[in-house]
Amino acid sequence: MSEFPEYASTYARELAARSRAFALQVFEGKGELAQEDGFSPDPFGELGRAGKVPGLKQRFPDRVLVMTSERCFMNCRHCTRRGILGKTPIVETPAQLKACLEYVKKHPQVRDVLLSGGDVLTLPDAKVLEFVNAFAALPQVDMVRVCTRALCANPARITAKLSQALGHSRKVWVNTQFNCADELTPAAVQAADRLLAAGIPVSCQTVLLKGVNDTGPKMLRLLRALSAARIRPYYVFMCDPVAGIGRFRVDLAKARAIENYCAERIGGLALPRFVIDQPGAKRKMPI
Ligand code: SF4
Repeated sequence: MSEFPEYASTYARELAARSRAFALQVFEGKGELAQEDGFSPDPFGELGRAGKVPGLKQRFPDRVLVMTSERCFMNCRHCTRRGILGKTPIVETPAQLKACLEYVKKHPQVRDVLLSGGDVLTLPDAKVLEFVNAFAALPQVDMVRVCTRALCANPARITAKLSQALGHSRKVWVNTQFNCADELTPAAVQAADRLLAAGIPVSCQTVLLKGVNDTGPKMLRLLRALSAARIRPYYVFMCDPVAGIGRFRVDLAKARAIENYCAERIGGLALPRFVIDQPGAKRKMPI
């Protein structure tokens, strides 16, 4: 995995140049590619679970994940899918999209569709809207989640035109990822404003990363910056058990101390759930 993809924005390169916490997430760490004992490149078995419908994955009864792109605006060193992007199918053709829609219709318990990858917003607007509108048109679907790190790594991608088009269905939620307060730049906040103005809820899933946000004050600064931007802090994830990200791991005792530090200083609306996602578990478990 290269450090920045060739199409990464000037904005992301400049942010990496001035924020060490952001740069840590972008540039390869010493020895990180050595295999770690006990960790897998594919801990959630997503390669093996390529399934009957290429590009569609289901771990939980009410949700499906649709792999829409192999590309991201930045190649996060801590990415759960760093070992599988490019090796697992994505949904590219109308026939593949139709197969996903048929799968959802045959599973009426599915109410929540995550458009992910990779980052769905690396696709052109027309393609993004084709995905969104196809799933939003299914009466059983309550939520279509656009999973993107564009707000952080390429906020200009969130145009007013795209935001308004996404807002039309009234089913779209944007799930994003900010890991340190440096990432909440004026441009990022304005991108969130465009989505919010279009009626789209914006939620943040943060990853707890050593050197980036692994102290109470750093995490608190991030949570306050998110709240000020009206981005709902939703989850703080422990690092997934993926090979090659050992330098980012924070132990559970420290994670609990960070959670307590924050809980004693901010209200519930600004306080995310600190969770761990374990292969085979039926839910995200509180730490
Ligand atoms: S944006 Fe998400 S999917 Fe893409 S590299 Fe980062 S963590 Fe992985």
